[in-house]
Amino acid sequence: MTSAGRFAPSPSADLHIGNLRTAVLAWLFARTSGRRFLMRVEDLDDRTHADIAARQLADLAALGLSWDGPATRQTEHQQRYDDAVDSLVDRGLLYECYCTRRDIAASPRAPHAPEGAYPGTCRDLTQKQRATRRQETGRAPALRLRTDAAEGTVHDLLHGDYTGVVDDFVVRRGDGVPAYNLAVVVDDAASGVDQVVRGDDLLSSSPRQAYLARLLGHPEPMYAHVPLVLNSDGARLAKRDGAVTLAEIGTGNALSQIAESLGYTCNTVEGMLSEFDPGRLPRAPWIYRPAS
Ligand code: GLU
Repeated sequence: MTSAGRFAPSPSADLHIGNLRTAVLAWLFARTSGRRFLMRVEDLDDRTHADIAARQLADLAALGLSWDGPATRQTEHQQRYDDAVDSLVDRGLLYECYCTRRDIAASPRAPHAPEGAYPGTCRDLTQKQRATRRQETGRAPALRLRTDAAEGTVHDLLHGDYTGVVDDFVVRRGDGVPAYNLAVVVDDAASGVDQVVRGDDLLSSSPRQAYLARLLGHPEPMYAHVPLVLNSDGARLAKRDGAVTLAEIGTGNALSQIAESLGYTCNTVEGMLSEFDPGRLPRAPWIYRPAS
């Protein structure tokens, strides 16, 4: 299988100019390195919608982006997630967790545990304690990975070596839905993705994903976490900031603004291909001021 890059939008809202810019960058990275470029709709969560997915793909195509083969949908890949979970169960690497977010926030952090790490409340429950927790909560448990690390380091093209939390993260939610980290790792490996270009809000997830990839016997992909787009208050760009989607901005206008933000003189994606130089990518967030 030839190597690939990808863009993996979650169809919970229309793509805004920041997401579109990340997609352009993912495409540029893949196309300039001889990789296939894949499109994967991350529709496992029930806050996602097929009509939004269709609009996202139409917007990406309108920019001039093309991908190899049809866009895939994570909801079509249940079998591969189940297989991965089963293999981890067989190796004794998963445990049931009954904690809610609120439980986790309220429990004391283990000494030396990094901020945001799961405190390990359910890690060593006996069978009897598990049965009691199940009865008390009336909930089906999530499945967490029993990790043997507290942190992990990945190499990122823009951030250099990045060290972040590797806690006992969830691989399957209590409602049976595969967790984001598991689905990404399994899908990337299954489709030959060895180049992950995405927004740098996901940088902190990459040590967990690289850890899981290693456990499942997959190579760690090359990472490039690109700067986010912020509003003029320095907050993450959002719908309420005004005209931020392709329909609101207009395709030509959006392309020129993306090109300008990246320092290109060309305002088509084909033109940007010839100007692309990963070493010259802006490292700071792009502050976007929507026309009101
Ligand atoms: N679906 C995720 C998002 O839209 C991206 C996942 C990824 O690129 O790994 O934020």
